[in-house]
Amino acid sequence: MTKQVRWKCANCDHGLLAPTKPRKNDVRRYCLPCSAKTGKLVERIAPSLEKKREQRSTVVREQNKIKRERTAIKLQPLKERQKRETQRQRIFEKEADRIWSLFFPNGTTRKRPRIKLVYSHSRGVSGMWNGWEVLVRIPRSSNGGAEEWETLAHELCHAVIGTRHSEGKHGRTFYKALKPVIEKRWKVKMDWSFINGYTDTSKSWGYKVDWAMTAQLEKSGKVKFDYKSDDLEVEEG
Ligand SMILES: [Zn+2]
Ligand SMILES: [Zn+2]
Repeated sequence: MTKQVRWKCANCDHGLLAPTKPRKNDVRRYCLPCSAKTGKLVERIAPSLEKKREQRSTVVREQNKIKRERTAIKLQPLKERQKRETQRQRIFEKEADRIWSLFFPNGTTRKRPRIKLVYSHSRGVSGMWNGWEVLVRIPRSSNGGAEEWETLAHELCHAVIGTRHSEGKHGRTFYKALKPVIEKRWKVKMDWSFINGYTDTSKSWGYKVDWAMTAQLEKSGKVKFDYKSDDLEVEEG
């Protein structure tokens, strides 16, 4: 025998037992005396089924709430990450502006190239000037530092002086342009005297000079490279 529940008429309270799912045309679904009186079909309801339905919808509501909360938690780190990325971008833009203006003591109308940050998997920092933008590859946790800023200045220097030099990309002309900018920006005198062979005709220029300058910047300790994240507030999007 199928499960029976009590069906009641909401009007007259008269009830009877019927299956939980009576057919649509089953007379037990309807209170016939009340229907006859009102001229419209009066449905009976099964209170126990109604209660279950209510409980079910409460459970569904609860589950939806939990789901929403879980999604919010999942989105939280993403939002945080986006916020940090925006902050980092601003820190690098700000630094790039400062460096850029130092290349032009008499001012310039030249627009600073766009700075594009990419994350390296290693802890290393590297850069590239591709002719229209400066690309700086940094560790994911980086907010700048001696290596980052030297690299940034280096790439901006390429943008300023161009690369058509008989002495190559990283020759005397390049470093002679970069050195005073680094010295002015961080007020650290670069000492190249310990490197033998850096004369005007020397062919021994190159990344060694960058490493030497980065090391001296780091060693100086005068350079506060790290911006606190709240130095650059980012408005909530
Ligand atoms: Zn009735
Ligand atoms: Zn270079």
